[in-house]
Amino acid sequence: MEQLKCTTTNCIHNLCSHCNATVVGVDSKGRCATKMKRAGGALEQTFAELEAAEEFLSDAPDIVNCDAECLFNKEGRCSASSIYVKDSFFRTKCDTRIVE
Ligand code: SF4
Ligand code: SF4
Repeated sequence: MEQLKCTTTNCIHNLCSHCNATVVGVDSKGRCATKMKRAGGALEQTFAELEAAEEFLSDAPDIVNCDAECLFNKEGRCSASSIYVKDSFFRTKCDTRIVE
């Protein structure tokens, strides 16, 4: 994958909308299963972002494994070149998902 933009406000893998996980898992409902909340919540993420150097931010995970029904799902792997992940009411979901 070339690019993953994730706008979650609270994940240990997230800095400035970039995901630094090497492998991301998306479950059958399109929810990010790799998300891990920071102990200090969204505030801790805000402080981490203030200290982050732009040049060290990751572009995308190497692999996105996915169990969701989606046009881009090829045998359990995401084949999209870029995806957008964002917070919804209760969970953080892939917004690029297209159900055929
Ligand atoms: S894609 Fe998932 S693991 Fe990566 S920053 Fe977003 S919520 Fe965290
Ligand atoms: S675009 Fe589709 S295949 Fe790729 S992670 Fe999102 S739901 Fe899964």
